[in-house]
Amino acid sequence: MTAATHAPTPAVTPDTAFTPGTARIGFIGLGNMGSGMTRNLQAAGFQLVVNDVRRESAAELLANGAEWADSAAAVAAGSDVVITMLPTPKHVETVALAPGGILDGLADGGTWVDMSTSVPEVAHRVREAGAGRGIRVLDAPVSGMSVGAANGMLQIFVGGEAADVARLRPVFEAMGDPDRIQHVGGHGAGYAVKLMINQLWFSHLVATAEVLSTGVKAGVDLEVLRQALVASPANSNFVEYDVLSILEHGDYDEGFAIALACKDLGLSVDLARSVGVPVELSSLVEQLYRRARALYGDNAGEMTPVKLYEDAIGVSLRTAAPDTAAEGA
Ligand code: NAD
Repeated sequence: MTAATHAPTPAVTPDTAFTPGTARIGFIGLGNMGSGMTRNLQAAGFQLVVNDVRRESAAELLANGAEWADSAAAVAAGSDVVITMLPTPKHVETVALAPGGILDGLADGGTWVDMSTSVPEVAHRVREAGAGRGIRVLDAPVSGMSVGAANGMLQIFVGGEAADVARLRPVFEAMGDPDRIQHVGGHGAGYAVKLMINQLWFSHLVATAEVLSTGVKAGVDLEVLRQALVASPANSNFVEYDVLSILEHGDYDEGFAIALACKDLGLSVDLARSVGVPVELSSLVEQLYRRARALYGDNAGEMTPVKLYEDAIGVSLRTAAPDTAAEGA
């Protein structure tokens, strides 16, 4: 469907929040994250206009009443708010600024929210180009993996003006955990917070892989070692919870491709460079991720760098999952 066939956009005054009854949401990027996010927006009652280069990714949404638009401009023309959830800054740039992009379709006073893990430059250009038209822009990247997107429990870091954040709150609450939707600062602050969270989590992952591999090779039982770490000052969310996906299920989380993890690490190191901070550790973690991507492929899971260590020591780091143990008993 094209913009011309959309019903007229409902009026939303500047001081009115975007609620299911008043706002039509455009959503571009229906991948691992966007598919769950749109399902939750739809479940909350928002009318959706969607687009993805893979039209088949919209099948379920369309069956449940969403509209399809053939271009980003057509999505924007039929929406009060356009959300993007795209792989890289390059994709965001194309969708926002290229001919037939969001800026071409968005009505004066319209709002664009980029929830991709990206960088401020594209949003900055959209703000500049749209300034005379009253176009509002927010960056609102997320944490919580594809499972958080599916169950509506994402953590959302929003950069932009407070009034815009307030208007978008019902939209964010449909996709995220209301207690962890945070206005973190001005334009670009959301992107920066998100990149720093990923950087630290990937660093925890590599450090944990080294420690578990070394301890196991030194003869310590894997679960005994992990429990000791959890009870110690060296505990982390990764060692307590996230690593269990590998240890118990051999699951390296293909819901987040290592190609995208490498993209995030590259952006994080670039950010540090641009603000003049030397980040030796982050650079090393980025290189390890790039090595794992080269070995295991673009679509390998974000936790695949642990496999570098498993392959080096010739041991898969596995404990019996509680459910498996119960089944075997
Ligand atoms: P994905 O590759 O699964 O999905 C991206 C979608 O965008 C795909 O469906 C693709 O077809 C579509 N797309 C690409 N170019 C397009 C274009 N020009 N027009 C329309 N659609 C286009 O990626 P994802 O895992 O959903 O991640 C999306 C963003 O969220 C990334 O920036 C990623 O870093 C971030 N993120 C991902 C996770 C995760 O666990 N997967 C967690 C937090 C943040």
